Amino acid sequence: MRKKNKSLKTLTAFCIAAVLTFSGCSKDSQETGETEKRTSFVTIGTGGITGVYYPTGGAIAKTVNNKKDTYGIRCTVESTGGSVYNINAVLAGDLEFGIAQSDRQYQAVKGLAEWAPRGPQKDLRAVFAIHPESVTLVAAEDAGIKDIKDLKGKRVNIGNPGSGQRQNAIDALTTAGLDVEKDLMAEGVKASEAAGLLQDNRIDAFFYTVGHPNGSVKEASSGKRDVRFATIKSMEKLLEKFPYYAKSYIPKEFYPNIKNEEDAETFGVKATLITSSKVPADVVYAITKEVFENLDTFKELHPAYKVLTKENMLEGLSAPLHEGAVRYYKEAGLM
Ligand code: GLU
Repeated sequence: MRKKNKSLKTLTAFCIAAVLTFSGCSKDSQETGETEKRTSFVTIGTGGITGVYYPTGGAIAKTVNNKKDTYGIRCTVESTGGSVYNINAVLAGDLEFGIAQSDRQYQAVKGLAEWAPRGPQKDLRAVFAIHPESVTLVAAEDAGIKDIKDLKGKRVNIGNPGSGQRQNAIDALTTAGLDVEKDLMAEGVKASEAAGLLQDNRIDAFFYTVGHPNGSVKEASSGKRDVRFATIKSMEKLLEKFPYYAKSYIPKEFYPNIKNEEDAETFGVKATLITSSKVPADVVYAITKEVFENLDTFKELHPAYKVLTKENMLEGLSAPLHEGAVRYYKEAGLM
């Protein structure tokens, strides 16, 4: 009986803990009898730690955690498989926020690509846009790859299934007339592993849709094997075909050992912060407000944010804006 009682107690404690975790809230100052203060725990899904999403999640978390006493929000980040993983985890309620490519946001809202079997994702909400991301095709010189069309017969990492770049790679390859299954040996590993595989001569090239500069491309271009950004000459066709792609370029200056003689022209999208309609407006309001009101300090946290303005952070969003973000944008006269 005693034993039963004890396990019942443990079970009750477990249930309370589970409820608190699930609701994302816990009570502070319970014993001191001070005014009850709730802390909301929120997590941002990012990408591999050598990408730009991971430090971006960190920059957002840092900005809002600076005001923990004002909002009672404790924000943490999680390294994940990327855009598609983040959108799905946010929709499932496993994460409160995620960083996702603007094209992937568009596809989820419209029920395209990975979301085609499930249809339009109505609970997806946009918060703001962040840095531009370029579809980056990193190729080994000794494999003779100068343009995307040279990928025929090569070992190419097109990206892990949860990543944003996977569909970008497929779109670019298909438009260049290459069949992903028949014309190349496609790998599906995470971008954080691709740089090492390229240097170890286990792949010849990899796609990575990412802001610049970033750790993976630095790693890929700093080893014994010479590396270049391959061109995507079929780009004009691609821009005509897909509404969410725009021209972009990768500054050569970020990668001193890269073999390109000039900045590399390619196409790109934007990184965006997404959430679910189920996340409380106060939390979304606080995060939006803190990032916007501290934008100058925020921009110093990564060179990829240099181009950010309050205005362009509202561009490139396809999901409806979350009501908490709208509250701040109206208050700040941005809407
Ligand atoms: N764009 C990539 C993705 O959606 C992630 C890039 C990064 O981690 O910076 O998977």
